[in-house]
Amino acid sequence: MSAFRCQICGRRKHLRKDGTVVHHCVGGPRCPGSGHPPIEHDDARLISYAAEIERAYRKAYAAVRVLEERRANFIDPALIIRRGLFAGQALRIGRRLQRHRDWPERYRRSIARQMDRHGYAWAEPPPDYLVERIEQNGRGHM
Ligand SMILES: [Zn+2]
Repeated sequence: MSAFRCQICGRRKHLRKDGTVVHHCVGGPRCPGSGHPPIEHDDARLISYAAEIERAYRKAYAAVRVLEERRANFIDPALIIRRGLFAGQALRIGRRLQRHRDWPERYRRSIARQMDRHGYAWAEPPPDYLVERIEQNGRGHM
């Protein structure tokens, strides 16, 4: 079992010799995180992919919206399905990015809550790569 996770789907995957995640598929199509460094090394792909999906969703939304405003007699169901698909993906990837970003904040909150309730905390220590990033960014100490 590999110790590295894909940036987009979060599954544990082996790395190639050049340090990128191997090709893998999720639910049919190729995972957009394959061929990029794992989340432990870099989160650039996650950020760029979130923006990409958001753009694709806006475009699909606008396309359907234009047809609706023109009161078109026929709107291709594929367009509507596409809009829904992108909406779901945008939501999921947005949440993933959000969780990745506010991780230290949530961890601190959960420790504080446990200390409040029980007087001690048993949460697992955070993964090393996240601790390193917090230190690099210089925001907050635990
Ligand atoms: Zn993946």
